[in-house]
Amino acid sequence: MLTDTSASPYAQMTSMAPGSCRITGASPLAVLRDRGLRVTIPTMGRIMFDPSVAHAYQNFLVAAGDVPGKHDGPPFMDGDLYKWLEAATVMATETGDEELSGFLAEAAVAIRRAQRPDGYVHTRTIIAQRQGSEARPLERRLDFETYNFGHLMTLACVHHRATGEDAYLQLAIRVAGYLIDVAKEHPELLSDCNICPSHYMGVVELYRTTSDPAFLELAGRLLDLHGGKGYEGSDDNQDVRPVREQRQAVGHSVRANYLYAGMADYALETGDEELVAALTSIWEDLVTRKLYVTGGCGALYDGASPDAAQDHRAPTRVHQAYGRAYQLPNTTAYNESCASLGLIMWAWRMLALTGEARYADEIERVLYNALPAMIGADGKTYFYTNPLRQVRDLPIPLRRAGNPLDSVPPPSQERVRQEYMTACFCCPPNVARFIAELPYYTYSRNDTDLWVHQFVSGRTTTTVGGVPVVVEQETEFPVAGQSIIRVSADAPTRGVVRVRIPGWADQTVVTVDGVAVERIEKGYAVIDQEWRQNTIRVEIPMRTRLTVAHHFLEETTNQVCVLRGPVVYCVESADLPADIGVESLAIPASITWTEEPGTDIFTGHVLLTGTAARLPDQVPADQLYAELNQADPTALDIRLVPYARWGNRGPGEMSVWLQLLR
Ligand SMILES: [Zn+2]
Repeated sequence: MLTDTSASPYAQMTSMAPGSCRITGASPLAVLRDRGLRVTIPTMGRIMFDPSVAHAYQNFLVAAGDVPGKHDGPPFMDGDLYKWLEAATVMATETGDEELSGFLAEAAVAIRRAQRPDGYVHTRTIIAQRQGSEARPLERRLDFETYNFGHLMTLACVHHRATGEDAYLQLAIRVAGYLIDVAKEHPELLSDCNICPSHYMGVVELYRTTSDPAFLELAGRLLDLHGGKGYEGSDDNQDVRPVREQRQAVGHSVRANYLYAGMADYALETGDEELVAALTSIWEDLVTRKLYVTGGCGALYDGASPDAAQDHRAPTRVHQAYGRAYQLPNTTAYNESCASLGLIMWAWRMLALTGEARYADEIERVLYNALPAMIGADGKTYFYTNPLRQVRDLPIPLRRAGNPLDSVPPPSQERVRQEYMTACFCCPPNVARFIAELPYYTYSRNDTDLWVHQFVSGRTTTTVGGVPVVVEQETEFPVAGQSIIRVSADAPTRGVVRVRIPGWADQTVVTVDGVAVERIEKGYAVIDQEWRQNTIRVEIPMRTRLTVAHHFLEETTNQVCVLRGPVVYCVESADLPADIGVESLAIPASITWTEEPGTDIFTGHVLLTGTAARLPDQVPADQLYAELNQADPTALDIRLVPYARWGNRGPGEMSVWLQLLR
């Protein structure tokens, strides 16, 4: 469903077929998806198709000449509509929802009518031309045309796989044809206009869907055109060095992760060893030096990169970007939602390329922390940026969480999620499509093997050795660490089931029909046998762990964060006495946690209570420094809640990292 790597020569596995995966139960992922289908996707559709709110759909009608009017919204809004249409495709295929099917049919017609004969479709430029402007395609990189194209291609491939229809696929094929022409005649335009390059993924997926080698050739050409600009380029757009020579995660984090995902897609088809070497190095740089414990990507609102380079001409401005190694501030973390979703896309492709569980570990990190925190418990409000700490009266005027292009908020304003963001609505439809596609991140397959990546109640159907097989998983993960996976084959068949051993877990036990599985490869328990009616049991210890960071990470010096399984916890004002700020709280190293089942917005989650410490007030508000207050800490009962659910009880303080008391 997500990526069809079934014929990719260098892929270990491919995605499960459309309609073959279900999530059931009341786990956080099940609740997130259920609410996504009931609230998130339908609500967002009405916004996108209501011209009094958003011109996402209306822009296509205007571009087609079907209605009078002007373009409204950011230049990347076409792509944001495509992302939502992808979510709607997955949901409509599953539920038969008629309103969504209607939106999908209408939009395909409108996009077709707006598309030029040469395949180009970008409502802002086409409308400008209709109104007599001299605007030309691909003349301004911040028009985001190729970003839009890429999302149309991905939508088209998912839609074709899910429905068997060609309505969107034909649009995408024409767009790719346009890119092939431009790559021949004016390659410099594609070298320049490649902001947030979702089109590398899109073109490769189009190749997989159509088997037309011209699209794979185009993908290779686009990647060659991306980098190697030297001082003409910037780390912000990852184009200083050729893509094969890049070794670190730099610059705008959405652009970066989309680029890396596209590079991985190309490597899956070609086995390009230089690309794989680059990706492996960049990945190591990210997960060992630049990734937040929540799965947040992109520490900086604005900055310079590379910082303190030996060559004074090298530093360039970056924004919404990865910082230097270990530069991970909490309160001012940017962490655009799309960047963490881009990390999932990249990790998914690295997983297919290598079969290594460490990539599924990072998908899990985002699924249980960054992703659910992007969306409110109401299913229809969103964060654009995702800090790990929020404090009152911060004098640094952070751009508003919901609307990064708006003027600065007053210092005392604490961020809350927003329903619709006028200047930029890129993250919410990205969240919607990931929620729609959640079941497909649980498993992968090839002709003989099945991978179990995530522990979620539900069901999948596949074939092993050509024999139909049903796999049913029953678990309360992450509340409890036990998972029961029942494999039912129509007839005895030989094959391999691989069950992920989470990298954070110690002493995971996997058995099949009561017999311990000893063979572990690439982080998966490997069960190679004949299958008929078999039961796999997975026992993962769900210890609550105090976690510390590398000493280079100055922002968390002498602090801990609390994890239970993959779930990151935080403290919020709503659970503290009114006169206590998060800075006064300390966690004794010897703390004993009591687990409580969550209720209301925390239903399906475990809450943690314990006796922490309240530190004496340290520094008066109007001073930068003061002599240490030697008074002893006092006991304070606290409650920690999953970061996934923060910010659902009104404005207030929040912190993932807390001081450690030894
Ligand atoms: Zn975004």
